[in-house]
Amino acid sequence: MKLILLGPPAAGKGTQAEGIAERYSLAHISTGDMLRAEIALKTTLGLQAKALIDDGNLVPDEIINEMVKERIRQEDCKGGFLLDGYPRTLAQAETLSQITNIDAVLDIDVEPEVLVTRAAKRRVCPECKHTQLVDGVTDAVCAKCGAKLIQRPDDNPEAMRHRLAIYYERTFPLIRYYKAKGILKAIDGSGTIEKVSSEIFEFIDGKLS
Ligand code: AMP
Repeated sequence: MKLILLGPPAAGKGTQAEGIAERYSLAHISTGDMLRAEIALKTTLGLQAKALIDDGNLVPDEIINEMVKERIRQEDCKGGFLLDGYPRTLAQAETLSQITNIDAVLDIDVEPEVLVTRAAKRRVCPECKHTQLVDGVTDAVCAKCGAKLIQRPDDNPEAMRHRLAIYYERTFPLIRYYKAKGILKAIDGSGTIEKVSSEIFEFIDGKLS
């Protein structure tokens, strides 16, 4: 099974991806996590990407496409994979269509006002990459591994508003693109994590049966 998770920033893609990848033994490919790993290692790519990411801009298509092409060739992707945060532009979607066939695209839909509030509360674990929402807690720790959680630089309200604008301009057209291919499944992302997961699992189980 080869899946794409589509949706605006802070819609819950990463959180849902963790659960889906585990339940169906799929490789979880998050281009955002891959780029953050490059930044942490201070590679040439990481240094190039950091300013773009921190300001909420997209990394150029050619760089991302190469990164994903190489990643999905790896052994752990042979049994299927889940793309989280890729493709984000029509050019990326076209490149992807030339390298593999996708079974379904899950579009997690959440209202923009909810997204800005969620991003402000979002904290990530620097160790295991788990994401949590915190309410007024300054020293929150990861529920999975206990490490001290941090806030992503691009989750500040200014960068977040810019990311949303970019999402509607560059990524939103992909909904129509995949609808036309007949592989889009809209998911209501406004409910609890469990409610969203069960809608997704029901859909994937239906496809597998
Ligand atoms: P994410 O963790 O998916 O929210 O990604 C964080 C940031 O990484 C984005 O705001 C972009 O700057 C960059 N990024 C991640 N995936 C892509 C992509 N497919 N195309 C361009 N930039 C990306």
